[in-house]
Amino acid sequence: MGTKVCSKCGKLFFSNGNNLCLQCLEVYQKEEDLVFDYLRKRKAEITIEQLSKETEVPLDMLMDMFYHDRFIGDYVVTSQCEVCGERIRQGKLCKKCASKLCSGY
Ligand SMILES: [Zn+2]
Ligand SMILES: [Zn+2]
Repeated sequence: MGTKVCSKCGKLFFSNGNNLCLQCLEVYQKEEDLVFDYLRKRKAEITIEQLSKETEVPLDMLMDMFYHDRFIGDYVVTSQCEVCGERIRQGKLCKKCASKLCSGY
């Protein structure tokens, strides 16, 4: 077990298998609970920006959860394609733009 730099606050901490120190992890988990609580009650489609406003959880944290597919399944959380702005439920690009990008290689 070595020390790690917390990816949120930049403090050194003893590795606990996470990228966050215990303090940040606690905050993170509380915010995560808040988000899923809200989604359980809402039961309707919501954009990630709206979700951030409603729960006051920072957008970059929600984006991180989005990219890790945390909303896949019971919830409909949408983001926008980075290229054309279309609503997407996974990743950073819509299918159209993703396949365009792939065919370019
Ligand atoms: Zn930290
Ligand atoms: Zn697109």
